[in-house]
Order: sequence, then C-alpha cells, then structure tokens
Amino acid sequence: MIVYNTLTRRKEELVTVHPGEVRMYSCGPTVYSRAHMGNMRAYIFMDTLRRVIKFNGYKLLGVMNITDVGHLTSDADDGDDKMEKAAKKTGKSPWEIAEHFTKLFFEDTDKLNIERPEIVAKATDHIADMLEFVEALVEKGYGYETSDGIYFDISKFPSYGKLSGNTRLSDNIAGARVDVNDEKRNPADFALWKKAPKEHIMQWDSPWGRSYPGWHIECSTMSRKYLGDTFDIHTGGVDHIPIHHENEIAQSEALLGHPAVHYWMHVEFMQVDGRKMSKSLGNTYTLDELEEKGYSPMDFRYFCLNTHYRKKLNFTFEGMDGAKTAYSRLLALVGACKHAESGTTDPEIIRQFDKAFLDAVSDDLNIPLGLGELWTLLKNPPSRDIYDAAMRADKVLALSIDKCDEKKDDDVPADIRDIAERRFAARKAKNWAESDALRAELAEKGWSVADSKDGYSLKKN
Ligand code: AMP
Ligand code: ZN
Repeated sequence: MIVYNTLTRRKEELVTVHPGEVRMYSCGPTVYSRAHMGNMRAYIFMDTLRRVIKFNGYKLLGVMNITDVGHLTSDADDGDDKMEKAAKKTGKSPWEIAEHFTKLFFEDTDKLNIERPEIVAKATDHIADMLEFVEALVEKGYGYETSDGIYFDISKFPSYGKLSGNTRLSDNIAGARVDVNDEKRNPADFALWKKAPKEHIMQWDSPWGRSYPGWHIECSTMSRKYLGDTFDIHTGGVDHIPIHHENEIAQSEALLGHPAVHYWMHVEFMQVDGRKMSKSLGNTYTLDELEEKGYSPMDFRYFCLNTHYRKKLNFTFEGMDGAKTAYSRLLALVGACKHAESGTTDPEIIRQFDKAFLDAVSDDLNIPLGLGELWTLLKNPPSRDIYDAAMRADKVLALSIDKCDEKKDDDVPADIRDIAERRFAARKAKNWAESDALRAELAEKGWSVADSKDGYSLKKN
C-alpha cells in the first residue's frame, strides 16, 4: 500500500510497526454542534482509508477521539470555550450538549456507512491520563506555568513546525495573533492546561488548582495510551496541520524523545464557493438538510468518493445531482447483474478488474480510479460474476450497492431505465440519430430526460 505522508511531502510505501497490523489515530469531532458535510468528508476519508487497509489484508486497530471539553473558539489557544458557549446559549450542561451531538454524529456516520473505529475515546474520560502527560512535560522542562495555565515552551523543541514546513517561529501567525498573554515566553507557545475561571463549568482538580485540559493534549495522550509510543498513521483535515498537529507532535516527541507517528495523512477541504465549508462562515449543510432536499446518504458518499481526498471538493447541488444520477445508474447496472440470465463472464476480465481495482485504491487511495474500473467492468454484458466482483469492490466503496433491488420513492421503472441507459450509451458514442429516437421513445412513455456533464436525469412528465 502506498500513502502520501504530509510530513515528508511524498508518497511512501506503508511499512507498519507491527507486522500485518496497522495502528491508526484519527482526530474526531468536537461535539458542541452538529457535524456538517465538510466534517463528513473527513470521516468518509478516514473510513475509506480503514477499508483499504483491511482490503489489503491488514489487521486494524483504529482510535478516534471525541472532543467534549476545552475546545476554544479560535483554533489557537484563546477565546471562549465552544462547549461552554453552547451550554450558556441553550441552558443545558456541557455534558448534555456533548452527549446530544455525539449521538447525532454517530447517527449520521452510520447512515453514511462510516464504520466506527475499534476504540472511540472521550476526552472527559481521560482527564487523569492527560494530567499525567502534562506533569511529565513540566518535569522535563517543556512546560511552564503562567497565571492562566501551563504552556508548552516551543523554543525547547527546535523542530517545531516541521509538519507544515513553518519552522520560523515568528511566522506562526496563529500564535502571534494571540497577544493577550504577555507571560508566554514565545508567541506560539500553546496551552497544555488551563486554569478555570469560577464560571467555567467543566473543571477538575490539578496541581495548579481547578482547571481543564488544553485542546491538543487529548490526542497525544489517548493515541499513546491505546496505540503505544510509536504507531503508524494519524489522520485529520488539512486545517489541523499548522497548529493542532504541530502541537501534538511537539507534546508527544518532547515526552518520548522520538517521533510517535510514521505517516501523517490529511484530507483536503470541502468548499462552498471557493471557501472552506465551516460553521463560522455559515455555509454549512447537514445530512438531514440534504435528505430533506431528496439526496440520500449514499448520493453524498458517491459525491465524495468521486474526488481524490487530497483535492479540494466544491460542494454544489449540481454536483450532488450528478452524483445522484451516477449512483442510481450504478445501482441499476449492478441490479441487472444480480438478476442476469448468465452467471459467468470471461474469468480474465474479472481477474483484471480485481487487480486494477486493488492497485488503484492501494495507490494513496485512488478511489476515483477504482470507481472508473468498476464502471468499465459494468459495460460488459451483465452476469453474476460481475455482481460478485462489484460486491468485493463495495467492501472499500461502502456504497451499499447490494441494495440495488430496494425500491426508492423516485424509482424509475426498469424498462424506462433501460431505454435511458441505451440512449446514454448512444450519446457517448455520438450516435445522435439513435439518441434522438430513444428520447422520443421515452417521451412517448411519459418521461423526459435532461443531460448533464457526466450523466443524465429522468423526470416523469
Ligand atoms: P472539528 O469538529 O472542527 O474538529 O472537525 C472535525 C474534522 O473535520 C477535522 O478532521 C477537520 O479537519 C475536518 N473538517 C472541518 N471542516 C472541513 C471541511 N470543510 N472539509 C473537510 N474537512 C473538514
Ligand atoms: Zn486531534
């Protein structure tokens, strides 16, 4: 398996610490609000990576955290605590809010066929472990106390910034902007632990009085606890590279004296009109909103899988329409194979597909290419062999294509779908006369067809 490593900025062969086993940590959700589809792109990436790892025959131990404490408004270390802010707004306790949004998160990820990692770890269940970690850092001289917390001294960690390539401390804009705390030794020093003002609801005892953890310490602590001092893969979104993951590296390496992670993998943003989909920009969509508009979770999963994870993906309803059409065509073709008269296809064709699919998805998760291989396979006359091959591929794609028989409300009758498919093929072959004749046939049966860039959609007149 080949993966792109953000740390070395190149594709590398995956060589695991423990033979035959991959250990992987994924930054999980902050549960003070409902996860949006940008977040879901990140977890579909995590899930696809997990599936490709298993498809390659590895055993997998995956850990994901739930950030249910101490995430601050700015991704640096200042501002209001988001959990606390949500609590004040709704009159609920931060614990109730975290529980509510964690439940919603898993409802959404279940619908999107995102498997749960083997271990899901809540920050609030690991306060003692985190405290121990911070105390060890202070003991080693990496942490120092100020009036409002314990900070990590980045001047003691010369390779700070190596993940983002931003090793000039003065360039750390996020740190430099945080000018409220004159007691910090360097502008980019970040909080390991925060002293709690009286009104801060979530707080615990510590050697420094009532207090709560900084955001970054939970990932260093829980990854080490469950995966060991050195593990294979760490994932997150590209927004985590310059601050959260730099800080995780600083904490873990300072404590251990060696790197903890071998491969850092980051998923690019889902954007809206050229800007990151994010709560603060107010340009988010949630899964229930998409469902209300008539898109299924699998339409969205297909939409994500069709773009490589290291490319930006622009969210548009036009794009969602294209994905929806492509996905229902995929189901129709797979369905035709399920009910095919003939069970067999030339074994060489099947063998070539299996190999091409495995090669594609194992090359830094080239799922778009893997999907392309599946489409090519489905151009062959339908057969059970092809159906079985598609099921093997679906272990990675997780598009539920075995559900090809399930009637959907907007389902198109098989004979109409068949004419439309033949017309689509005719158009692709630039056989305009046949395409027009088939359009007329559809119109006679009461259906109109609209063409789009990579597909078509059908409407009952
Ligand atoms: P958060 O709950 O803000 O920590 O985000 C959860 C995950 O979603 C992180 O891995 C983020 O990097 C990722 N993420 C947030 N916004 C987007 C986006 N627009 N596109 C892709 N990933 C995102
Ligand atoms: Zn994290």
